[in-house]
Formats: sequence, C-alpha cells, structure tokens
Amino acid sequence: MSIQSNLKSVLSEIPNHVLLVAVSKTHPISAIQEAYSFGQKHFGENKVQELLEKQASLPKDIHWHLIGHLQTNKVKYIVPFIYLIHSVDSLKLLKEINKEGSKNKRIINCLLQVYIAKEETKFGLDEDEINVIINELHNLPSIKICGLMGMASNTNNSEQVREEFRKLKKLFDKLQPIKKENFQLELLSMGMSSDYLLAIEEGSNLIRVGSSIFGSRDYSI
Ligand SMILES: *Cc1c(COP(=O)(O)O)cnc(C)c1O
Repeated sequence: MSIQSNLKSVLSEIPNHVLLVAVSKTHPISAIQEAYSFGQKHFGENKVQELLEKQASLPKDIHWHLIGHLQTNKVKYIVPFIYLIHSVDSLKLLKEINKEGSKNKRIINCLLQVYIAKEETKFGLDEDEINVIINELHNLPSIKICGLMGMASNTNNSEQVREEFRKLKKLFDKLQPIKKENFQLELLSMGMSSDYLLAIEEGSNLIRVGSSIFGSRDYSI
C-alpha cells in the first residue's frame, strides 16, 4: 500500500470535523513530502531533534505538532515555529513555554496531556493538577490552552480503551465551560492507528495517526 492510498483510506473513514495529524516519527523526509504532495498539512513528531531536522528541510506551511514528552531545556528550539504542543504535562513546562513564547512574541497553542491509561509509563496530569494550572493561567499570557490530549492503554481490550476515552471526554466536558483569555477547550486529541475510530465515537476531534499512513516503524535503524 502506498502512502497516498493509506492517507485516502484514513480520510475516507473520518468525519469532516476531525483533524488528522499524520505522525511521521522515524519516517524519512521523503515520506512526509509524499503525504504533503497529496494535501496533508499537519504532521506530528515526538522527538525535538528529529522535528527540528525535518522542519528545516520541508515546506514552511506545514503545521508541526509535538506529540511526545517535552523536556524544559528543549522548549526554546521549537517555540519559534510549533503549531501545537499536545504533551504539556507539568506547570513547570508550561511556565517555560510561556517564557519562550513571550521572547518570540508568539502565543503558543498547547493541549494538557491527561493521564488516562492504566499503565505506569504514560505521562500526564490528573484533574487536581489541571485545576492548579487553571489557577496559574493569569501569569501565563503567552500560552493558550486549546484542549486536552490522552493516550489509552496499549491493549487489545477495546472496552478498556473505550472506558479510558470516555473518562477523558467526561473531563473535557466538565472543564469546557471554563472560559479564560488563554483557556478555551476546543480540541480533544485522542486516537492513534489502532483506536482512532473508537476515539472518534467517544468524542475525539483530533487524531494522531502514524503506522496506518506510513507503515510500521523500524526502531533499529
Ligand atoms: C507514535 C504516536 C502516535 C501514532 O501511533 P500509531 O500507532 O503509529 O498511529 C500517536 N500519538 C503519540 C503520542 C505517539 O507517540
């Protein structure tokens, strides 16, 4: 299967209001160019170094999404161009993004990553931590919180995955009425290759799809 036909088939399955981020991590620049030439503009990467290399050599109208864990000391490299950071998992990180955003005279769009999986390894905030962040937002004028992001457990148990997505949607609905200058929840980023249809059923409007578009990843090279 080619990247073009994979892309077409994912797009044909999802409603118009759902934004598709093509997750290009580990795949070469040529693969991104191919998807771009078929009209795909939103790409996601999980490592800053890899993102920087790709961003430098690809068209400037690509919207880059950072979807992986972000270390505070790397924030400064992506702030000049990043479209959306999905993986904000601490107030400390948010403060750093705000600082660099203001230096660059940019307002940086962010999602709060929420811990929903049953696995110990996944990053993310809980509801109490999100409330602490909401109370600090008046000090963070160079960021905008546009939504929430979550990753379900890596399991074949689709009922468990559905429950986890449901939990996140419930939290989204609870926080959505809160409106501040820099807090307006519109995006719910959930769903990857294995579970994006399920995620959309449960209310996702932003999916992050890698292997269903680009094929499987080879981490050994
Ligand atoms: C790699 C990754 C994806 C895409 O995974 P696929 O299973 O290849 O679709 C989505 N979200 C995050 C945070 C990722 O790291």
